[in-house]
Amino acid sequence: MPNLLIAGTLNLDDVETPFGKVQGIMGGSASFASYAASFFAKPGVVSVIGRDYPKEYLALLEQRGIDLSGVEVREKSFRWAGSYEYDMNEAKTLRTELNCLTEFDPKLPKQYRDATYVFLANIDPELQLKVVQQVRKPKLIVMDTMNFWIEHKKDALLEAIKRIDVLVLNDGEARQLFGTPNLVKAAQAALKLGPKAVIIKKGEHGALLFTDGTHFSAGAYPLETIKDPTGCGDAFAGGFIGWLAKTDDISERNMRKAIIYGSAIASFNAEDFSLNRLKQITEKDIEKRFGEFKEMGEF
Ligand code: AMP
Repeated sequence: MPNLLIAGTLNLDDVETPFGKVQGIMGGSASFASYAASFFAKPGVVSVIGRDYPKEYLALLEQRGIDLSGVEVREKSFRWAGSYEYDMNEAKTLRTELNCLTEFDPKLPKQYRDATYVFLANIDPELQLKVVQQVRKPKLIVMDTMNFWIEHKKDALLEAIKRIDVLVLNDGEARQLFGTPNLVKAAQAALKLGPKAVIIKKGEHGALLFTDGTHFSAGAYPLETIKDPTGCGDAFAGGFIGWLAKTDDISERNMRKAIIYGSAIASFNAEDFSLNRLKQITEKDIEKRFGEFKEMGEF
């Protein structure tokens, strides 16, 4: 039985960065998030794919012990095309073809309903709400989103935020959603909706954690090789909740640690396209980078 449920997208991505151009590669919020989480926990994925989705992409997740019994198959896969310029902090979406996502009505397999940790990765907020309603007694629900859903489904998104414990957003999305240039004010507005914690990711500049009375700022790893940041946010959040699920400790102190584990995994992810770099690393590499993060933060 998975102790961590991840709902999100399994996509085919076309990505262009100053360091290369690739088409039809494995992407999607649930791919990166579940792979990252699998270093710590046993995730089960809820998602939808088309018949055109390559079998080897699913095999890669299965090899990590990820349960895919919640993945439905429809006609055509969700496709996303994005590009980055030298400022790799922001993806420019060139095309979004929702395809199978528009017909998706998630039904959780029985064994998923008792999951205690839930990650609502970036997907239609109406689907995020449907997933939450089917989990019996979650201990912690973490949620991510992106500008596409802020623009197209803001009401459902705000409704979903009321039902969760930790909101993860990047800085641009936080400003857009809460209509303020100030991240502290955006975090306060998010906390008012109900979550106990808000994490604002700042791309290559780290991440901020806000709770009602505390604030934590995590630095970023000084990467020499950045080829493709696609999926870093998902890998970050997957690593974050994976660590919390493994330790079964949702204290603010442990969330700080989880942010560093998430940042360590996300930093590896940026070193190559798709999941290519994550495929090469082990728990030992993550521990080593965690140690480097620790040292960088000391003064
Ligand atoms: P990230 O770089 O972590 O924000 O996530 C990138 C991944 O999100 C890519 O692999 C995309 O396929 C996926 N993605 C793009 N647009 C959407 C969307 N509207 N909803 C869900 N996932 C998306």
